[in-house]
This record gives sequence, C-alpha cells and structure tokens, in this order.
Amino acid sequence: MPWFKGNIHTHTTNSDGDSSPEHVSEWYKNHDYDFLVLSDHNHLTILEEAKKNQDIWPLLVPGEEITVRTIGTEAAALHINGIGISEVILPNSYESNIEAIEDVVSRVKNQNGLASINHPNYQWWVSSEDIKHAKVDPWGFEVFNGHMHANNEGSLNSMSTEEIWDDILSSGKFIYGIASDDSHHFTQEFSSSRSNPGRGWVVVNSKSLSVDEIINSFRIGEFYSSTGVELSEITTTEEKIKIKIKDGISKDKSKFTFRVIHENGVIFHEEEGQDLEIGTKGMKKYYRVVISSSQGTKAWTQPILL
Ligand SMILES: [Zn+2]
Ligand SMILES: [Zn+2]
Repeated sequence: MPWFKGNIHTHTTNSDGDSSPEHVSEWYKNHDYDFLVLSDHNHLTILEEAKKNQDIWPLLVPGEEITVRTIGTEAAALHINGIGISEVILPNSYESNIEAIEDVVSRVKNQNGLASINHPNYQWWVSSEDIKHAKVDPWGFEVFNGHMHANNEGSLNSMSTEEIWDDILSSGKFIYGIASDDSHHFTQEFSSSRSNPGRGWVVVNSKSLSVDEIINSFRIGEFYSSTGVELSEITTTEEKIKIKIKDGISKDKSKFTFRVIHENGVIFHEEEGQDLEIGTKGMKKYYRVVISSSQGTKAWTQPILL
C-alpha cells in the first residue's frame, strides 16, 4: 500500500493563524504533503471547493482543535484535536482536565472521529495522570508539536512527551504518538521563535488517498510520525520488528540510531545502521521504536502491545 504524508494540526485566519485556509493549503501542497487537517480553535474549517482544487491543495481531512481554557481558576486547560468529524464541537466548562478529556473525547468518538491530546507540555497543562485516569481513552497524543512553546523535551522535574507516552503505555493504556506542526505563521521570516510549518508530520500507509481510508489507517495505527527521518518499510508485529531507512536519505552521510523501547521506557535494544531486524522475545508489555538521525531529526513508530 502507498504511503501518504500529512500534517494534522494547522491554524488559519479562521482562528489565530496568519494566513487564509487557501494559502495554508497551497503551502502544504507545494511542499509535497498529500493531506492536511485545518485544525482551527473551536472552528471546523471545511472548504467546500476542496474537491475542485485537488490539484492545488492537499486532500483536506476535516478537523478542529477543541480548545478548553478556563480563564481565571484554570480548572481545566487543554487542547484536543478532533480529526474526521463532520460537525463543530464546542467545549463546555469543566472542573478538571480529566472531566474535559472524558467529555470532548466522547463527543469526537460519537462522530466517528479520532481524538488527540495536543501539546501536553504547553504551559505544562496536561499530565500523564490526566490521560491515564480519564475513563475515555483518546486515540493519540502529540509526542512532537512544532510550536515554539510546546516543551516537548520536558525538564529535570517534568516529563518529556516521550516519558509521558511510556508512562501511559506502561500503565496498560494504549495511545498513539503524533508529530505535527501546529503551524500559525506562514508569512514573514521562518525562525525557531515562530510557529512555522514543516516541522512535524505523519506518514500513513493507506489503500488510497481519501478521507475514509486515511482515517481507517490512522485508527489502526498504520502510520509513523516524523520530524525528518523517512522510512521505507515498517513491519512491527508481536513477534518481530523490521524497519528500513528510505534509500538515498543518507547521501548527506547522516547516521541513524534505532532504539527499541519497552516497559517503563527502558531501552531494550539499540543499534546504528540503515535498518533494524530483531525478534521481540524478552520485551515486556509493549514496544515502540524511535529512530534518531545524527542531524537531530527523528521518526517514531507506533507501539505494539505484547
Ligand atoms: Zn493548541
Ligand atoms: Zn494548535
């Protein structure tokens, strides 16, 4: 099945982005993205003319960033993407993040959509405890968010997004990891202090480039997340792992390190090279693979429960 590249978290002038939905869509098409979610805050941006403009825009998958922010008491503050929904979801007010996750995720699921917890470390809003204790499980969360204040790496006393991921998986709950741009700024200079596109994306293995097929593949974890490392093969089963770096990517002499992570975030195996082939014997609870390049970019495969 073919692979399709997409970004599922972007803003336009329908919320706090600096460019029109048309301009944003063209940026992604011009940079070889196959699909895109225009995820405006509490606004479902659906471009009726999307079908007519297939040649100049990527496939537009409907979505919204459901934005819960209680100003003042800050009882609950978090952002949840609803992907593949057909009607706008407006948040209620909530006493806690757990209550907000349960309500918003249920409403996304009621529309057969996929709910993702965005940038958990933005202002340190969402903890892994919030996600673990919610009675309704989100489909995914952002292991990488390209916004300059996303705090993906955590701190000495605050979990990185990867530590959050392992904490959730080790508790027995299952969640996918997403990389996204959360892009707001498409004009003026591109710099690390601005929220520009092109930083984090997902690559989906899907029968065809249609909204239904992309959502179907997302739902069963047929995708990987990336900030630059490209893969040509991912076989991850309960018995074995086989992963290959896309041919030609190492013309710049990049080196790649594969790390297989299992229960409690422990590194089970690591090696350097262009591919990884290993059995899963001895791995506990789950595994996931992170591939890091010497350029500082990464790819994350989705976890497999054992
Ligand atoms: Zn957000
Ligand atoms: Zn956002």
